[in-house]
Amino acid sequence: MFKPITWVKKDPEKNNVFWPSDELKKRAWVSDESIYAEATKDPVAFWTKLASEGINWFKKWDETYRWEPPYYKWFVNGKLNVSYNALDRHMKSWIRNKAAIIWEPEPPDEKERVLTYFDLYREVNKFANVLKGLGVKKGDRVGIYLPMIPEVQIAMLACARIGAIHNVVFSAFSGKSLQERMLDAEAKVLVTADGYYRRGKQINLKAEADRGVEGTPIQKVVVVKRTGMDVNMVEGRDQWWHELMKNAGNYCKPEVMESEDILFILYTSGTTGKPKGVEHHTGGYAVQAYWTTKWDFDLRDEDVFWCTADIGWITGHTYSCYGPLMCGVTMLEYESSPDYPQPDRWWSIIEKYGVTVFYTAPTAIRMFMQWGEEWPKKHNLNSLRILGTVGEPINEEAWLWYFYKIGGGRCPIIDTWWQTETGGTLINALPGIGPFIPTVAGRSFPGTLHDILDESGNPVPVGEGGYLVQKPPFAPGMLRDIWRNPERYKEYFSAYGEKFYYTSDGARRWDKLGDIRLTGRVDDVMKVAGHRLSTAELENAITSHEAVVECAVVASPHEIKGEVPIAFVTLKGGVEPSDELVKDLMKHVDATIGPTARPHRTIFTEELPKTRSGKIMRRILKSLVRDEPIGDTTTLMNPESVERLKKLVG
Ligand code: AMP
Repeated sequence: MFKPITWVKKDPEKNNVFWPSDELKKRAWVSDESIYAEATKDPVAFWTKLASEGINWFKKWDETYRWEPPYYKWFVNGKLNVSYNALDRHMKSWIRNKAAIIWEPEPPDEKERVLTYFDLYREVNKFANVLKGLGVKKGDRVGIYLPMIPEVQIAMLACARIGAIHNVVFSAFSGKSLQERMLDAEAKVLVTADGYYRRGKQINLKAEADRGVEGTPIQKVVVVKRTGMDVNMVEGRDQWWHELMKNAGNYCKPEVMESEDILFILYTSGTTGKPKGVEHHTGGYAVQAYWTTKWDFDLRDEDVFWCTADIGWITGHTYSCYGPLMCGVTMLEYESSPDYPQPDRWWSIIEKYGVTVFYTAPTAIRMFMQWGEEWPKKHNLNSLRILGTVGEPINEEAWLWYFYKIGGGRCPIIDTWWQTETGGTLINALPGIGPFIPTVAGRSFPGTLHDILDESGNPVPVGEGGYLVQKPPFAPGMLRDIWRNPERYKEYFSAYGEKFYYTSDGARRWDKLGDIRLTGRVDDVMKVAGHRLSTAELENAITSHEAVVECAVVASPHEIKGEVPIAFVTLKGGVEPSDELVKDLMKHVDATIGPTARPHRTIFTEELPKTRSGKIMRRILKSLVRDEPIGDTTTLMNPESVERLKKLVG
């Protein structure tokens, strides 16, 4: 292994503040501080330049930014195709023969798969023809319910190629969750697999997919043979991927898409019981995905980039698919568990492929901390150059462990704040500029503007906390609507009026440079092991169990997962609480949402604290599980319930 370079240096004045080393500054795409001021002076002009330089357009746009509150458009009348940008344009250069995806299967004795950009191009073209053959047209919705196998990127890019709107559903979500999303999106075709590996076991995904298709408009199901396990195939509806691909033509002309045509819908949790279909549109999303990938991770031709996010989440869409591929980068993809066969699997993968840039979640870092530093120590991780985190606030201890034990004290940590709604990263330090400070994400990406407001809408001073908002011009990759639910879209622009996109995140202004510390969600959305879950969705799931009358779910802090759901459950008369019932409730949650949503603790209670109008006071339950002062209980209909609950919570 080559001699590792020290990419960061310690601030001589402040402990645990780091800056890029001269080597990093020299190498980085961006290392001149003035980029922030230049971009802020005229963000629209800034993005115009980035859009022209980063993306191949079939036709240039007429108008860069149009704002008709609460809607905005970018690159109006520009024409492009994202699969063309991820593939075709690389066919004319040496990148054609470079590894696009290195795929590591979970079974350690199974061989890896390497797809060059040309391989990926050919497969995407073929699958685009398959989709067309199944009757999929521009604007149709295609469900994708696949594990982390290269077919997932192939399917997404094939949709993008023909202008179909993909709707990827996390493969660990239940069939019922899939069904809900397919119904809302009115999907025509579903792409799934027989199964996948999880900690050495074969998981039957097809059985869940069958449940998910029931009662939806899906007419055709394409099934990837991943494990070869025995699955049910429905005559006339289900077809094997490999059989359809055998006769598919190897070129499919990319559809000419309008910049504001929908590229994909991705469902995410909000504060109500129903997930919302966040819409991302073609041109703006492509521009933000391309430039944030390139600049945040400072990617070069020789890099091997590994983003561990599952494709079912926005991080997977932007940084395990579109961003790296548009940048022509070699991307690593791993099928499954970090601790199989041993807790050093990830580190062994980094060593095996010489991963240079690694992007993961704080919850994973904390899990590895718990397993012990002996596991990463077994491996030579000197290839690493840049480390990234995303998904939730990172605590100082985890940041420092990641920095020293994984990065060897040499690699900057790029803590990226963003959301499903924002399409790409928005607040983080840039590798060539810094500073890198534990728990502080950094500054707004050049050309984007954020503020932190108090309850009345006044910006807070340095050192103070408030609510994070984005100011116009809204970043190009931001959501354009909520699928068939404009009312929910409008909510983002209602808290502080149409001039502010409200993030629902708490934040603190860190310093005069503009650095921001994010402090977590301020609404009823939890981040459990980095996964976004709605308390209302979980409450609906639990309440739909036959033994339950009423339920309230609140998030409680957790050492490894960041937050975990605690369920307060009132049972029907005559039903006794028992361990068996708890198990049954878990099974019910698995089947309704998926195992990621399982309550960490279920507390049975005869009554919940309520206002006189009958509303459950979640604020009180939250304080109870966090061991915080309860505050005013005078508005409660049943204040005595609080004392009883205190004893139950313990
Ligand atoms: P999702 O839409 O699933 O990506 O979740 C978005 C939410 O994750 C944000 O609203 C934040 O609460 C949280 N989040 C994402 N990245 C970070 C980060 N780097 N620091 C703090 N919170 C984060």
